[in-house]
Amino acid sequence: MYASVILDIPTQALDSAYTYALTPETAHVRVGCAVLVPFGGRPAVGYVVSLTDETPANVARVKQVESVLSDSYFDEAGAQLAFYLSDRYIAPLSSCVRLLLPPGATPKMKRVAGSWEVLYPKVQQVDERWAVRLPAADQYEPRRSAVKQIAILEALKQGDLRVAELTAEYGSVSSVLKALESKGVVAIEERRRVRGNAQISPAFAKRIHERPELTSAQRDALELIGSAQQRADGEVIVLDGVTGSGKTEVFLCAIEEELKRGRNAIVLVPEISLTPQTVARFRGRFGDTVAVLHSRMSPGERFDQWDLIHSGAIRVVVGARSALFAPLANVGMIIVDEEHEGSYKQDQSPRYVTRDVAEWIAKRNGATLILGSATPSIEALYRVESDKDWHLAVMGERANGKPLPSIQVVDMAREFGGGNRKMFSKALQAALNETLDKNEKAVLLLNQRGFAQFLLCRDCGYVPECDSCSTSLTFHEEGNRLVCHHCGQEQPAPAVCPECGSPYLKRFGAGTQRVEAELRAFLQDRERPVEIVRMDADTTAHKGDHQRLLEQFAKAEAAVLLGTQMIAKGLDFDDVTLVGVINADTMLHLPDFRSSERTFDLIEQVAGRSGRADLPGKVIVQTYSAQEVAVRSAARYDREGFLEHELKMRKDANYPPYVRLANVLIWGERESEVIGVAQKLFFDLMQLAEEQGLQGVQVYPPTPCVLSRLKKNYRYHILIKAQPECDISAFCREYFRTRKPDKTVNVSIDIDPVSVL
Ligand code: ADP
Ligand code: ZN
Ligand code: ZN
Repeated sequence: MYASVILDIPTQALDSAYTYALTPETAHVRVGCAVLVPFGGRPAVGYVVSLTDETPANVARVKQVESVLSDSYFDEAGAQLAFYLSDRYIAPLSSCVRLLLPPGATPKMKRVAGSWEVLYPKVQQVDERWAVRLPAADQYEPRRSAVKQIAILEALKQGDLRVAELTAEYGSVSSVLKALESKGVVAIEERRRVRGNAQISPAFAKRIHERPELTSAQRDALELIGSAQQRADGEVIVLDGVTGSGKTEVFLCAIEEELKRGRNAIVLVPEISLTPQTVARFRGRFGDTVAVLHSRMSPGERFDQWDLIHSGAIRVVVGARSALFAPLANVGMIIVDEEHEGSYKQDQSPRYVTRDVAEWIAKRNGATLILGSATPSIEALYRVESDKDWHLAVMGERANGKPLPSIQVVDMAREFGGGNRKMFSKALQAALNETLDKNEKAVLLLNQRGFAQFLLCRDCGYVPECDSCSTSLTFHEEGNRLVCHHCGQEQPAPAVCPECGSPYLKRFGAGTQRVEAELRAFLQDRERPVEIVRMDADTTAHKGDHQRLLEQFAKAEAAVLLGTQMIAKGLDFDDVTLVGVINADTMLHLPDFRSSERTFDLIEQVAGRSGRADLPGKVIVQTYSAQEVAVRSAARYDREGFLEHELKMRKDANYPPYVRLANVLIWGERESEVIGVAQKLFFDLMQLAEEQGLQGVQVYPPTPCVLSRLKKNYRYHILIKAQPECDISAFCREYFRTRKPDKTVNVSIDIDPVSVL
C-alpha cells in the first residue's frame, strides 16, 4: 500500500502530494491521519490524502511512512476540498489542509538541540470525575457520625454530581468517596467535559422557545427553499429580507426540515454577530446537537466543539467563516447569514471567498445553500439574474408588521461649510435630546473604514478624484501629494479647493474617542446623567468585553451606544429609537470599487437597528456627500435605483460582477527591490497572457497600494482582470507555483479579492 501525503510545510514550492510506502506497522493508516515521514533529510509531519495499491512509477525512490501520529481528522471529501481550495486560490496545500484540522491540536515538528522531535499538542480533552449513586446505596446505612457520607448520599439522590461540586459544597471529600466506593454504594466515573457548551442564560430562554406563526413572506421563502431541498441538487437561494423580517426564523425552519431528511446543517455568521443571543436561538431550537465555533473561544473550547462534531454527535454547526470546514458529515444545508459581509473573505492564505466555497460544497453534496442578507451582495444578485440554479426569495417587511424607520440625510457641507466643524448636526442634536428625554436609546455609528486619508472641501464637499479612474485620490503626507492607486497618476495636493476656492480643504479621518469627548460635552448639561457606551476595537479587546458593554447599554435607562461598524449588525434592542450615522461618506472616497456598495449596505443595515419593536424609529445620516447615489438611494430604501447606477459604473470600469479580479501584492523593505520584482512580474504575466492567447485577460502595470507602507514594508500591487468565463486561477497558477521566491521581496496573489487596497 502507498499513501499520498501533503507535507505540513507551508511553501508554494511543495505544492503537490508526495507518495510514501506503508509498512505492516503503518498499514492501519487512514485518509486524514497525521503521519511522520522523511523529507529532504529530516522528519516531517504530513497528512494522508489518499491511499492506493498501485505501485508508483518511481518506486525505487519511494520512502516509507515512519509512524502514524493521529486518528483521522478528515475523509476523502475533505481531501478533495483541500485540493480545490489550493487550485482555486493558488494557495499552498498545507494551508488548505490546516482548515480541516482540529484547531491548535495537531502534532508539529520542533527542533530540539539540533534534532527534530514531534511536539504533541497541549490542547486535549479534559475528563472530569463524577460521583454516581449505585442501587446498593438504598440498603446501606452509614453510621450516625458519618455526616459527610450521609450528606453526599442524600445529594446524589437528585442525580450524578461532579466531584468538584461536592468538594465545593462539603470541603475535602476524597476519603469519604473512597470509603463509599469501597462499600459499593457509590461509583466514581471519568466523563469528558465539553468546554464551550455554555448554558443559555435564563434571560434569553423565553424568547427562544416561542415559535411565531410564520408570516406569508416567510412561508413563501420556505416553500422556495423546500423545493430546492427536494431536488437536492446544490441550488442556491438568496434570502433578501429587510432587517427584522424574520430571516433567522426561516433558517431555523429550513434546518429543521433538513434534519428530518437525515442530513446536517452548517450556519455561518459574521464573527461580530456571533453573539450569545444568536447562539441561544439555535441552541433553543436544536439543543445539545448544536456546536459553536469561532475565534474568540479558548483553544480548549474550540477543540472540544470540533471533537464533538467529529464524533458525530452534532447536527448543526453555528460558527464564523472557518466553520464551513468543520468535520460535519452528511451536510445537506449551508446557510451564510449577512452574506454581503466583507469578513467572509479570508485575509490570509488560502484567501477564500466563503460564498463561493460554500457553493462548491453544496454542489458536491447536493446540499441547499441559503444566502441571507438585508443587502445581498451585487455578485449574489447578479447570479440570481444569470444562473438558473440561483433563486431569490424576498421578504420586504418586518415580521412584526412595523414600518422601517424613515431615514433623514443631513448635508454636513451645507451646515458646517464655514469650517466651524462639529461632529453633530443640529438635526442629530435635536433628535438625541428628544430620544433621551423619552428615556429611549440611541445608537451612533462612526464609520471607520475610511482609513485612507483623502481631501474634502468643507464648503462644497468636493473630493479630488482621478481623471481616468473615477476613484478619489489618496492623500500622502510624504511630499504632500495626491495619488491614484489604480493607475498611479499623482499630483501635488492643492492648497485651496479647485472647485470653489475655499481654504477649508481638510484631510479626513476621526476616531471614536474624539466623538465620545464631543458627545459627553454635548450631553453634560442634561438634568439626568446619560449612560454613554463606546464600542470599538479598543474597548472590546478582551474576551467578554463585547457582551459586558451590550449588557451595560441594555440595563441603562437613557443611553447612547457609540461605536464602529461592529455595532451595525445584529443588535436587537426594543428601546433603540434613534440611529445616527456620524459620517456616512468616509468609505465612499476610498479608492475601492466596492466603496459605494459598502456605503449603501452600511446605511441600510444600521437603519435596521432602529425602532425594531413598538416604538417608531428614526435614522439620521450625516454626510458631506449628500448627492452621492449610494447615500440618496439608501435613504429611500431604493435598491433598484442604486443598482442601476452602480452596475453601469461597474460595467464601464470593468469591475465585478462583469469581470473576475486577481490582485498580486508585492512587498518588502527596500522600495527599489519591490519595484524591480513588480516589474518583472508584470512583464511575465503580460507574456503569459499573450502566450495563452487570452483575449479576455488584462494585466495592469504595478502601482503602489493605498496602504503604501505597512510595518516598514513598501507595498505594490498588480491588478489582473479576466472575463467571467475565463478561469483566472488557471491562467497564472503554474506560474506562481513554479516561480522562484525572492530573498527580500514577498509576493502573494489574491483571487477574487474583496478589496484592492
Ligand atoms: P432578521 O434576521 O431578518 O433581521 P429576525 O429573524 O432576527 O430577523 O427576526 C426579527 C424579530 O422578529 C425577532 O425578534 C423574531 O423573534 C421576530 N419574528 C420572526 N418571525 C416572526 C413572526 N413570524 N411573527 C412574529 N415575530 C417574528
Ligand atoms: Zn470647495
Ligand atoms: Zn487613476
